[in-house]
Parts: sequence; structure tokens; C-alpha cells
Amino acid sequence: MFNKFNLLMKNIFLGAFILFLVSCATTKEDIITIDSSPSIVEEANTDSLLSVPQKKRDVYREAETILTDLIHTKLEVNFDWSKSRMNGVAFITAKPHFYSSNEIVLDAKGMIINHVKLGKKTLQFLYKNDILKVFLDREYSREEKFTIKIDYISCPEERETSGSAAITSDKGLYFINPKGEDENKMPQIWTQGETESSSVWFPTIDSPNAKTSQEIFITVKDKYKTLSNGRLVSSVTLEDGYRVDHWKQDLPHAPYLFMMGIGEFKVVNDFYVRPDGSKMEVNYYVEPEWEPYAKDIFGETPNMIKFFSEKLGVEYPWDKYNQIVVRDYVSGAMENTGAVVFGDFAYKNKRELLDENSQSIIAHELFHHWFGDLVTAESWSNLTLNESFANYSQYLWDEYRYGIDEADYNAEIEADGYYQSAEAQGHHDLVWFDYDDKDQMFDGHSYNKGGRILHMLRSYLGDEAFFLAIQKYLKQNSFKAAEFHQLRLAFEEVSGEDLNWFFNQWYLASGHPSLNFSQYNDTISKVLSISVEQNHDITKYPIFKLPIQIAIFDSEGKHINKVVIDELTETFDLKYNGELKGVLYDDQNMLLADIKKEKSVNQYIYQYYQGSHYNARKESILKGTRKKTPQGQQLIIDALEDSFWKIRVLAIEKFSKLEGEKRVEGLQKIKDMALKDVNSSVRAAAVGVIFKSLEDSEITIIYNNILNDSSYLVVSTALRNMAKIDPLLAMESAKFLEKEKSSKMILGIAQIYSANAVSDKLEFFLDALNGSTLQGFDKLGVLNSMTMYLSRQDFESLDKAYSFYSNLSTNAKGYTKIFLPQNIKFLVRSIDDLIDDIFGNTDLENTNEEVNKYNDLKKRYLDLISS
Ligand SMILES: [Zn+2]
Repeated sequence: MFNKFNLLMKNIFLGAFILFLVSCATTKEDIITIDSSPSIVEEANTDSLLSVPQKKRDVYREAETILTDLIHTKLEVNFDWSKSRMNGVAFITAKPHFYSSNEIVLDAKGMIINHVKLGKKTLQFLYKNDILKVFLDREYSREEKFTIKIDYISCPEERETSGSAAITSDKGLYFINPKGEDENKMPQIWTQGETESSSVWFPTIDSPNAKTSQEIFITVKDKYKTLSNGRLVSSVTLEDGYRVDHWKQDLPHAPYLFMMGIGEFKVVNDFYVRPDGSKMEVNYYVEPEWEPYAKDIFGETPNMIKFFSEKLGVEYPWDKYNQIVVRDYVSGAMENTGAVVFGDFAYKNKRELLDENSQSIIAHELFHHWFGDLVTAESWSNLTLNESFANYSQYLWDEYRYGIDEADYNAEIEADGYYQSAEAQGHHDLVWFDYDDKDQMFDGHSYNKGGRILHMLRSYLGDEAFFLAIQKYLKQNSFKAAEFHQLRLAFEEVSGEDLNWFFNQWYLASGHPSLNFSQYNDTISKVLSISVEQNHDITKYPIFKLPIQIAIFDSEGKHINKVVIDELTETFDLKYNGELKGVLYDDQNMLLADIKKEKSVNQYIYQYYQGSHYNARKESILKGTRKKTPQGQQLIIDALEDSFWKIRVLAIEKFSKLEGEKRVEGLQKIKDMALKDVNSSVRAAAVGVIFKSLEDSEITIIYNNILNDSSYLVVSTALRNMAKIDPLLAMESAKFLEKEKSSKMILGIAQIYSANAVSDKLEFFLDALNGSTLQGFDKLGVLNSMTMYLSRQDFESLDKAYSFYSNLSTNAKGYTKIFLPQNIKFLVRSIDDLIDDIFGNTDLENTNEEVNKYNDLKKRYLDLISS
């Protein structure tokens, strides 16, 4: 699963430029805190995210004991859209796992169970607390299969649900706009099984260590498309305008990976060519208006399947790979076997894709088809066996498709995600046996930290051993559940090394090293002494064993020194020849550690030019340019031409460090970059600088060229900057762009309107929020902007907007629902301000009547929160 919490954090990270604008341009002192990540962390925290126990809790979250082996699950379903119910018949074929038994115990959440049969015999059952215990007609041994038939009704809307920040609900089966009351939302049905919600829509053993093959007969009106796991075996039109689609998956998988999707989707066909030349179906299910963009969004999928199959040495194991985008999704994306669900954030047009694509998330879900779907973590405690690999696939894809700099850059963001998550919610073991709630497992540890740990292991063992070992792990555990020891044993088998030291400190302990590197250069004996101190709290975290490669640059070039840090403090004496020029403490740039380094400015500058990793070059720009030295200034000029876009952005951000001729040279380069750089983030950064540094007249000349940029990011950056110089011109441009079918552009315009004192934009906001262009979290961003905008408007606007907020208070879902009260409180404060203004105006004769009117509106808004 791609964590929605991570997605939100990522969006906030990427949208920081806009959010910053909102907070610094407003005149209100008490800014809504919706836009800052800390408030979201708090919000999430109150939900269910973890807190670290002071001492070991006396719970142990072991894997579910297997009493019964599921073998095959056959479902026949049809829907009552008006009641949001599903009528189902389940044929469950199973056998006792080892010990003979005369009963089968199933999870069945909030259902109505009509009857249970075995052949023609009606079976007795007990249904209580979401557990269905069926008494078989006799005792069965492990050699004997039986098939029971359960006639039931699934009632997802009639259950009490909880849900976490990662998965904001656990209804299992979702009816979206089932009565078609919202004309902007295509009616649809979809499912979300992970963690244990599949048992809301079919009786099963809802545990990750259960596996079963599957088939589903879905009856729907003929206008609907359906999607499920496996192959579409047949599609039979009935006489009454209905159709039965039969989906079948012969290979077993865990019940949480079962999926159904129904709606008037368009199916865009693509394919992947297997090594034997056969074609495998790769389809994209999207709403009709997104049909033209489906291949722009998902088109890399076949390449990814090929790349991952080859990289792993295990061919994609399933019979098809379909992806579907649904509305009101409760997580980011989900790896249901061969039928992956995405939230509507995935909808992006060609221009939007220039600024940001969803390839990382596509890769993540695809990689789960080996790690999660083929080999499944046996318990939620071992979740990292699924999520660390899915997370690391993002690195592998970036590395292959866009180069190692892009991979390292994103890895840095992933590591930061772990640090932030651990900071906010505390540290715990990676394989975590004493969580309070299984949903806590979907955090920065299982995903981000797990991914970085795999990268360290790869760096240590080398690519050949690393990929051979995970191939072995996959082959040995295919179609089975696994725990982390199986992963360790596969690595040990291939490398020949006992790796308990690695797994003990990274999988069975918590925290990460905090390292201090310092150096002493003995220029006479030509020895560089590098001292390392582990200064994290060793009462809580281990003294880590860290094999690293230290690179030393001298007159003869680069020398790699392999050393192992495994004590609290130690010193490594490393010889060099001629002159010492530079040192990289972690040449592979792979450590997950909080590192403090001692280095000279010259060493920092030197490392930029040594073809080093992204992080070393970044460090060079940040630390080597602190003082305005000629070398530092030349470094900025050189870095403006770096091959990697993020380094060019960093260099642009250092423009203020340039002086004299270098400043002239730099500005000329940045001016060219604003119009011509291949990367839109670089162009946007350059636009920011030229607005600050060129004469207004010169800016006005190139402004129109910038407005014609293909990237919305660049255009909205230009608009925002122009609003500071010439608000009228900027508003005129914004008005022109209001009709763009781009969620990001609408968000950008909304934020410009909210930040600048304009009126008569209420219609724009209402159109945007009621329309279908805004996707994912952008809707929340525009809502925040509208609230901010209204805080500067008069009574009439606030009065007119009331019905919108009133509707929202009954219909809002997910994060909009969480943040709506803050928005309304902000409006109430604005009405208070208006009342204060009235009292300040002594000319008003009928003050009381006026104030009553305002108080009435204020009360109506307040009622929205209290109800
Ligand atoms: Zn995942």
C-alpha cells in the first residue's frame, strides 16, 4: 500500500512554495495551521499512530495460528446500490491445516448470514462479534477437502468503523455516490482489503498468512465495467439489462489482496511482452474524461514490469496487471493482485505530468506483486517485508530510468520521512511485535527506514549477492507467507556470512546511529586520522556495526578504504600520498545515520568536482559557498550547469552569494535557464530569482514568454511573483488561466487570489470546489485558500458562502472532514473582526440591527461545527 500519510507529507513538501506564499502574504496574525505538516502530524497522532512505550508492553503480536488451510474461494455477488449493500454467495473450499476438525472459523464483519450449507446439508453456525463459526457435518482430516456455501449480505455502511491515518477507513466495501446525487462524481463501487477488511465483503480467514485461489461472478447493469483479480473468463449479458462477469485467479494469494471495482470506467489497453514472446494484458481503468491521459499517466508500466522481472530474476508471477483510479479512496494506492487501486491524485494531464508524475507509486504497487503478493509477510509485525521492498523499488526504478542522482535525491526524502516520523511518533523495532494497533505498522519505519536498510545491505554485499539473495528469498517462499528470518537466511546462504549482526541491529532493535566524524591530518607522515564517535543514546539504541567505505583524494587520485565502525569511539589512520585534497566519510552515500562531519571548506569545494554522488555535491554547494570566496563563487557558476536538476536548483538558490562579474555571469545564465532549462523545477527556481534581480521593465518583456511555458509550476511561479510587482497584470493573467483543466493550476490561482486583496472571486472558488478538476489534496488546498480569501471579504460574501460550508459539513470526507472545523473557526473569527469594525464605526445608526445580522451568521457557522 502506498501510505496516504506519506502521500500527504509528500504533497506538502512539493507544495511548500505555495503554502509559504499563503502564510507570508496574509495580513491576519492567526494563520490557519492547516498548511503546516506539524498540525497534520498531531492530527494523525490523535487517531492511532504509534507512541513508544516506556517499557516493553506485555503483548506479543504473533502470526495467526493456522487451523484451516483455505484452498479456493468462489463468490457470486450483486449489489443494492440504493442501500449500499451487497448480496453474496461464497463457496469456500478448505481443509484442516494439520489437526482434524469438525468446524471452520471465519472472519465475517457486520454481515447478515442467511444460511450455510455443505452440499445439500444445512449446517449449524454461530455468528457473533464478526466471527462465523461453522459446524461441519463431521470431523475432517488434513487429507480431506470440504466446500461450504454461505449465503450472506454485506452491509458496509451499517458497521462501526475505525481506521487510521494510513487507511482512513476500514469499511472494506465502498459505495461512492451510489444514488448519483453528486453529478460531478461518477458512481462507483470499490474495495479496500488491507489490513483486515476484506471480511466485510466475503467470509474468509482474514489474515496475511492465509492464501487462497479465487473466482468471482459479478452481476451488474450492462453499462458498468468491472475489475477483479485474475483473468476475465467470461462476460455474459442477461436479458434484463444486466451482465455477469466471471473473473478467476488460479494462483493463491492472501484475502486482503482480493479486489473489486465497478463503474462506468473506460478501459485503456496496453500490454507487456513476456520473455517467451506472449503478450500480457496491462489495462488502465479511468473515468471517461481521463481516457486521453491514461497512457501518459501509466504508460511506463510495461517497462517497469520488464525491468523488475529482469532485476529480480523472477518473472512477473501473475496473469495480468491492471490499474484503476477511484474516487474518495481511503489510502494512497493498493497492490491488490493484478488489480491495483489508485486515489484520484493519479489523474494528471500531460502538462501536469511535466511537473510531477506518479511513477514512484506505480513502481511501489507493482513491486508488491513480488513482495507482498507472491511472498507475503506472515504477520503485520513483519510488514516491512512487504513495504521496505516496495519502498526500495522506487529507488531501483529512479536509478534505472532517471539515473542515480534522481534515486539518491528521492532516497534523501525517504530518509527524512523516517526521521520525521520517528521524531513525531517515537522509535520502535523494525519488526515490531508489541504495537497497539496493526494500523500503526504503516509508518515511516516499515516503509522508509526499511527501504534505506535494504540499500545499506545492498551497498555492503554488492549488487550481485544482493539481488541473488532476494531472488532466492522469492523462489523459496513463493505463494507462501514469510517472516524476516527467511530473508536473513537467504542473504546468508548467498553471501556465506552470518548476518545476525546486521538483522539484530536493524530489524530487531530501534533507532539509528548518530555519528561524529572528525579528522587530523599529519602532513609529515602523511596520515589522515579519522575519528568516529557513536553518540546516540546507547541505553536505548545499539552500538552499531557499520562497515563503510571512506574515500580519500590525494595527489594521485581517489583511494577507497574499507573500514568497520563497531565501537563507541575509534580512529582509523589512513595513508595518503602527496597532498590531501578531500575526504568522503561514506563514499557510497548509503548510511542511514545522523552524521556530523568535520571538514575544511576547501575539502567541501573539492568534492564537487570529483564526480561524487548527488549528496556530496549538494553538501559541497551548501557548505563550500558559505563564505564568498572566489572558489565558492566559481562553484556556484559551475553548478548551474550540473547534469542533475536538483543541483542546478540549489545553485540558483545560492545566487545571492555571487558578486561583481560572477553575479553578472550568473544572472545571465539564470535568465537563460528560466526560459530554456529542460526541467520545470529549475525553470521555476530561475523565474523566482529573475523577478527579484532584474529591472521591472525587463521582467515585463519576458513575462509573456514565461506565461507560455508548458509547465504549470513555472506559470504559477511567474504569476505569484508578478502579483508583487504588478497585481493588476497578475490578476488579469490569472483570470485568463482560470479555465485550465489542471488541478495544480487552479490551486495556484486560488492561492494567489487568497493572498492578494481582491474581491469578486467567490464564484471562482465555488466553481473550483464544486467542479471535477481538483484532484486529491488540491481540493483541501483550495478550500483553505477560499477560507483565507473570505476572511478579507464583507458580510455578503461570507453569507453567500455559508451554504457551501453547510453542505460540506454534511458531505466532507477524509482529510477535508478533519480540517473543515479549523476553516469554519477561522471564518467565525473573521465575522468577529467585522463586528468589531461596526462598533468602531460610530456613524452607523442601526448598529444593533447590523450586529444581530452578523451574530446570526456567526451562530449558523458555529452550529456547523457543533452538529
Ligand atoms: Zn506499499
